[in-house]
Amino acid sequence: LVSREVKAEDTVIDLGDGVRLGGPSIVVMAGPCSVESREQVLETARAVKALGATLLRGGAWKPRTSPYEFQGLAEEGLKLLAEARDATGLKVVTEVMDAETLPLVAEYADLIQIGARNMQNFSLLRKVAATNKPVLLKRGPSATIKEWLMAAEYLLAGGNYQVALCERGIRTFESMTRNTLDLNAVPVLKQLTHLPVVVDPSHGIGLRAHVPAMARAGVAAGADGLIVEVHPRPEKALSDGHQSLTPEEFGRLMAQVRVIAGAL
Ligand code: PEP
Ligand code: MN
Repeated sequence: LVSREVKAEDTVIDLGDGVRLGGPSIVVMAGPCSVESREQVLETARAVKALGATLLRGGAWKPRTSPYEFQGLAEEGLKLLAEARDATGLKVVTEVMDAETLPLVAEYADLIQIGARNMQNFSLLRKVAATNKPVLLKRGPSATIKEWLMAAEYLLAGGNYQVALCERGIRTFESMTRNTLDLNAVPVLKQLTHLPVVVDPSHGIGLRAHVPAMARAGVAAGADGLIVEVHPRPEKALSDGHQSLTPEEFGRLMAQVRVIAGAL
């Protein structure tokens, strides 16, 4: 069902209020890695909205490598995202970690993110499909494009056709960067599937200084959208501060993205 041979036209996910992922314009999702506080999320939302983002990203449940690291604000985080949506008009994309919290996440999110670590959690995929909410399916750190498309197939087979794929970097032998952003995946996916393709340069390279370059490259490669970590005070962030842009850096990137998108 994900194949272009089955459906030739691009899938466009209508998130409401003119936000259309997979359409002619680049959809930019921006915000902190984690929702940390009311002030932090509202300040970030207002800033990224003013700079041209149309979705606010932010995790309420975080898949942290260590159990001793900040795990997220849970339902309180979802409420803060909803408050930021009401205040700015931004749509909300947030990650669901498990089946228990899915009903809550589905209630608050406009776009449900399935994290890299859950890409092949097939029972979760089936349950997310059943919500009929738009889904952003991140690529597993060690998944091939074929495995990723088959994971998306679970969502479509479950009756949910509103699925976008997000390249967020894969694990390679390279240790200078957090992951290796596989931009090859963008044109390859655009040929193989009708689903929209989003690039996450933040997790893809993991270094603030280089996030804008990889975001620009993602757009140039043909991505339909970007998801970028932005924090008003990255040095104080409770997660992924080292790869979060300041609002000022994000603003410069948005201007460059407009130029590249206009040239395509
Ligand atoms: C995130 O978006 O903050 C995140 C945890 O991403 P990933 O699942 O790609 O690691
Ligand atoms: Mn993150």
